[in-house]
Order: sequence, then C-alpha cells, then structure tokens
Amino acid sequence: MRRAVVLTAILFFCAGTMVRGDTQFTTVVIDPGHGGFDRGGIPGQRVAESKMTLDVSLRLRQVLERAGYRVIMTRDRDVFVPLGTRVATANAQHDAVFICVHFNSATRAGASGIETYFYSTESAPLAASIQSAVVRTAGTENRGVRRRGYFVLRRTTIPAVLVECGFLTNPYEATEAQNAAYRQQLAQSIAHGILARPAIATRTRYTDSSSRVDVGLQPFLDQRHVRGSGTTHHHKAKSKKKKTSKKKKKRTSTDDDNQ
Ligand SMILES: [Zn+2]
Repeated sequence: MRRAVVLTAILFFCAGTMVRGDTQFTTVVIDPGHGGFDRGGIPGQRVAESKMTLDVSLRLRQVLERAGYRVIMTRDRDVFVPLGTRVATANAQHDAVFICVHFNSATRAGASGIETYFYSTESAPLAASIQSAVVRTAGTENRGVRRRGYFVLRRTTIPAVLVECGFLTNPYEATEAQNAAYRQQLAQSIAHGILARPAIATRTRYTDSSSRVDVGLQPFLDQRHVRGSGTTHHHKAKSKKKKTSKKKKKRTSTDDDNQ
C-alpha cells in the first residue's frame, strides 16, 4: 500500500516535470528600444540610446543563436518601429520570451544603475534573473526589479521584460556603454539571465503553493514606483499615473531620475 502511494507520488512528479519541460521557451524576441527618428533618452543627450540598444541587441542575438535559440528581432537596423508592431511581433511567437533592451537617462548626471521591469506575474522570475545577471556584470547600482505597465509589457501575451542597461546621462556609465567590450558583456549577461531558465511558469504553475515566485521576489518589487510626466519613454501606462500620484510624493528624489 505504502509502495503504491510512493509510486503515485513519483508518477505525479514525473508528469509535472514533463509539463514544465513543454512550457520552456525555444524562441527569444529581442526588442531594441527606439530607433530612426526616435533616439530615446532626453533632449540634448550626447549618446543616442537607440544606437546603444541596437548594438547590445545584435550582440545578444548572436549569443543566443550560438546557444541554440531561435531569435526574432523587432528591428535589426536604425529604423523606427511602432510599439504596436513590436508587440505584434512578440505575440506572433509561441514558446517564446520578449526582451526589450533600453538604456536609462536622467536630468541629474549622478543617477546610475540597472533596473528591470516586468508586468505580468509570469514574467517576474525572468526579470529577476536578468536583473541579477546584468548587475553582476555592470558592477553598478542595483535599482531593482519593478512592476510597470509599459505598453510593450502590458500588451504582450508571452513573458516580457524590459531591461534598462544603465544611464547614458551618467558620465561613467555612458563611457562604459561606448565601449564595445562592455556592450558585449552586457549582452552576455542578459543572455545569461535568460539561459538561467528561471521558472518561466505557465499560469497554472503559479497557482502551485510551492512556487517560490511570489515569496522570493517580494524584496525586489516596488509597485508604488511610477515615473512622472516627461519621461523619455513611450511605453508607459497612462492609466497608472493618477492612482499613484499621491504616493509618488513620498518617494525619495532618486525615483525621479528616470525622467
Ligand atoms: Zn528607452
């Protein structure tokens, strides 16, 4: 009798593993932020964000393809691509994840560090994995993993993450970003974060009480954080502005660094 129970448990475990295996992704959709007339960043910014995001993304494609992944790019040259097209490109893929590559900017030159955004709960582990890998490489401030309703994150049906690879308005980080070897390191660390194969869980797996996702990520989440108007990016959720404007006042000055 006891043997039967153990056998049943083993079968359940195996079945679970198989299901999990089926849900792992084979394709990565890379979305280099901005492009064409949209340079990204803030007015007067010396280093164009759009060029840096494209370069890191092309390097990321190479790393991932070498690792055996199928890669789709929302753009692979300096052209403008509407956000809706980027999302549609991502949503056309199955067994895939969506990685938006950006660099940050701020009016305060001292603002620095790496931050990674996600929107859907199923994207949180991927965001955490990429954030920790990139922070380790960049050796700069860890601004954390944050939930935000950016258009490209909100409208995608596959796990989606937006990584901000440092501030191009920070003298040190801008100098680093202009170094090809550093951009290669960034690409490799993003790839490492993806390949670490975190629990890119299906929705059903998130209902599993043994999932570590909700518990483990809490210290990194800052759901109150909201950029004010005048942000340099177009992918933010307009609906969130009003609700959180009150809380925003309580935040420290660093929270406005992204604008
Ligand atoms: Zn950007």
